[in-house]
Amino acid sequence: MQLTTNSILKEIKTSGQLPSPTGVALSILELTRDPNTNTEDMAQVLAGDPSLTGQILKYANSADSGSRGEITSINDALVRLGMSSVRQLCLGFSVLSNSRSGPCISFDYGAYWTQSLAMAVSCHALCQRIKSVNPDEGFTCGLLGYIGHLALASVYPEKYSQVLKKWNHGLLSDLAKLEEQSLSINHNSVSAVLFEDWGLPEFYGLAVEMQDNTEWSEFPPGSTASERGYKLGRILNIAHLTSKICLETGPERHSMVLKFMKIGEELGIEETEWQQLYDNILEEWERLGKLLNIVTSNVPNMETLARRAREFKGFIPDKNGARTGSPHPVTSPENAVDNSEAMADLAEQAVLSKGMDILLVTDSPVDMRILEKKLNAAGHRLTMAVDGQDALEKTLMTNPQVILTDWMMPRIDGLELTRSLRRTDIAAETYIIIMTAQEGNEQLVEAFDSGIDDYVVKPINHKILAARLKAATRIVALQERAARHREEVKATVNNLGILSRRMETMALEDQLTELPNRRCGLDHFNKEWSRSTRNKESLLCMILDIDHFKNVNDTYGHDAGDVVLKSTAAIMKNCMRDSDVVCRFGGEEFLVICPGADVEVAKLLGNRLRKAIEANVLDTDEFKGNVTISIGVAVRNAEHQSPQELIKEADEALYAAKDAGRNMVCIAE
Ligand code: GH3
Ligand code: MG
Ligand code: MG
Repeated sequence: MQLTTNSILKEIKTSGQLPSPTGVALSILELTRDPNTNTEDMAQVLAGDPSLTGQILKYANSADSGSRGEITSINDALVRLGMSSVRQLCLGFSVLSNSRSGPCISFDYGAYWTQSLAMAVSCHALCQRIKSVNPDEGFTCGLLGYIGHLALASVYPEKYSQVLKKWNHGLLSDLAKLEEQSLSINHNSVSAVLFEDWGLPEFYGLAVEMQDNTEWSEFPPGSTASERGYKLGRILNIAHLTSKICLETGPERHSMVLKFMKIGEELGIEETEWQQLYDNILEEWERLGKLLNIVTSNVPNMETLARRAREFKGFIPDKNGARTGSPHPVTSPENAVDNSEAMADLAEQAVLSKGMDILLVTDSPVDMRILEKKLNAAGHRLTMAVDGQDALEKTLMTNPQVILTDWMMPRIDGLELTRSLRRTDIAAETYIIIMTAQEGNEQLVEAFDSGIDDYVVKPINHKILAARLKAATRIVALQERAARHREEVKATVNNLGILSRRMETMALEDQLTELPNRRCGLDHFNKEWSRSTRNKESLLCMILDIDHFKNVNDTYGHDAGDVVLKSTAAIMKNCMRDSDVVCRFGGEEFLVICPGADVEVAKLLGNRLRKAIEANVLDTDEFKGNVTISIGVAVRNAEHQSPQELIKEADEALYAAKDAGRNMVCIAE
């Protein structure tokens, strides 16, 4: 599993399509990795991006820091907010400005940022109240908490569109499942990896990985990374709920509001204070929305929302904060407590409201007519059978949910019918009610022994029959749920099969070029190294790097880049001897391993490769022209202690080839 995830992450990372900070923000991220950086350095770099600076200053002058006097310079902001907050705000604002739109048709980028901003301000307010992480850092964490969505939409626009369509605004946990089925990874894992890449503290990553949890225990004291991660994860979870309340306008909001109020209680925060916290969030959301050019909406204050929610006597049990159908495609209502009772209730309601498929079996035309009328009126769908034999056939044909049958009938009677049905697969679980005039204990025991579920006494009291059918409804709903569950399990098992097969190839092969991947190449190199030690044979490795490849991407687009990579890989493979191996070492770099080869072979092979690639003029829709490569070669000698050393030397030789003008082979001395 780990392997699959890794290779997918690699694919995602090398795609070049990830939401990412650019320009000055990127420099700030780099700069702050250096422990010696001081605020002056930061201020100087930030000065290069007036709009980013403006956003940070305006943010710094938010309502709650206003009392400390206006912040007018980036130096002030750095002192007030601290370097790490400024760094993260740069990150957040920069990612935002680079990802306001994108290629995924079913992804609503605007709604995504609207909700993310609500999450950011909620997270800020919650961090301030619950004291866990620095609120300004909490802000960024909230803003980017669901960046995995955006990333998947950016890297796999078509596939993710399909995923979103299938998901149809359901629960976030369902979305994660669909993502895993289609892309073998879910949004939270992607978020966590991006966080790691951006150098955010480790516990942020832990927090986003768990933010969709539906069950939380008490806040831990919060000193270790995992405790802090847990705490922040919980805060993100609450912030997400809060952001949903900001966006939801339908009756679904009521259950969310009640849940929000309950959380306040659980945290031991007084109701008015908790409501005020929400109102402050709204105000800040709107203020920052204007500043960052993000759409926000008018939402009533929490006192009003809470009152309306309490007045609302809805269909949805208030414990269950989830429902589908939010207008927001990205992060619609979630955090469904998997409350089986509530789920069963809902399933039962559904069966009740749409009625049941009932097979009515009686040889009395009068009973038939009366029951038909009553049951139809109650919303059930009926099939009629006139005796046991007829009933057997109709059961197999129509697969009813309930069979309501007479006991006494010609040919096959009710008990015989029940026994026969219980022996089949199709009707083993069908709910069977027998209608009987004979109510003696012994007969009833016999009837239950045959496999009936219930009985009604003749002449039929229709109120009693309705009550018994209601009991049947519950069982039918449970059975349907169980059947769905079995289907899901089956689907999961199937998916696991697909996944593990995919994993086997993905673990070894680079998807784009179909060459062995880096891991596989390095394994092979280690083996060759040992063999060359054992046999005292020579060994060489080359690192090949496409020249100015970035230009190809920048000029013709990423798809063109991919075409070039594929074609270059194919040429390389063609030039190799059988004993040589070429693998994709990373982005546009390749590693070639040649056992038994010496410097002369290196020159020959290196130049052959170089010329073949230069001569490979592409003429595709995406790209017309050729590229060149530079090659660094290292030949094993007695001084090399490890395979890594040899690779390092080849890498240095590659650098030299680049320095000397590219499109050449350079051999390490
Ligand atoms: P130089 O010749 O000096 O090495 O310049 P360069 O542009 O080739 O090297 P640089 O490292 O600056 O850029 C490499 C580019 O390769 C950047 C990255 O976006 C791109 N790249 C890496 N992997 C892939 C890929 O799988 N597909 C595409 N299309 N581009 C990729
Ligand atoms: Mg290159
Ligand atoms: Mg490179």
